[in-house]
Amino acid sequence: MKEYKEERELTKSNILGNILFPSSEIQKRISELGKQITNDYKGKDVLMVSVLRGGVIFLSDLVKNIDLLLSIDFMSISTYGINGDSSGVVRITKDLDESIEGKDVIIVEDIIDTGLTISYLLRNLKSRYPNSISICTLLDRDIRRISAVDIRYVGFKIGEKYIVGYGLDYKQKFRNLESIYELNIDTVKKDIESLKNNSNFK
Ligand code: 5GP
Repeated sequence: MKEYKEERELTKSNILGNILFPSSEIQKRISELGKQITNDYKGKDVLMVSVLRGGVIFLSDLVKNIDLLLSIDFMSISTYGINGDSSGVVRITKDLDESIEGKDVIIVEDIIDTGLTISYLLRNLKSRYPNSISICTLLDRDIRRISAVDIRYVGFKIGEKYIVGYGLDYKQKFRNLESIYELNIDTVKKDIESLKNNSNFK
């Protein structure tokens, strides 16, 4: 019975609030980022690394806007919270398939929030002797930053509000929306803090 109730509540009209970034704006910004990366990485051996699962939608649109001979690879990680706080304790649940030694790596993220996850990834990947590593994130929420990170490519800066769509989920749903939405706060208020610190919302 409880499961049925949850399913019923997970409708677009219950969960989604205002559109923050419409699809057209996202695609326009991705095309600009693609041009920038194309110019910056001419002649380099580029490997784009995407962090599952949220970053995949962004990666797939971004690479189509980059005019270089590049490779892609994927990692999957879980993060753990302590007493409801993001702890930065990260475990790799799926590692890259290829070596990154000598490569020019671009980590592609959906959103960088506290920065704890990306800081761990950077430390981990730097120890594998790449030629260079930079970060490209669609969304940058720097007001919650705990671990300072140098982000080379940012799509949009955002504020406090928890968002969904275009790779970002609410209870593993809504990743397939073309636009990015705020959550309908009345429906999901009680869930938000726990979601932010739950490893399952990757
Ligand atoms: P952090 O930078 O705090 O270590 O973690 C970033 C991760 O937190 C993102 O990859 C994403 O999975 C999740 N995240 C942070 N903010 C949001 C948000 O507003 N919406 C959703 N759906 N996920 C978020």
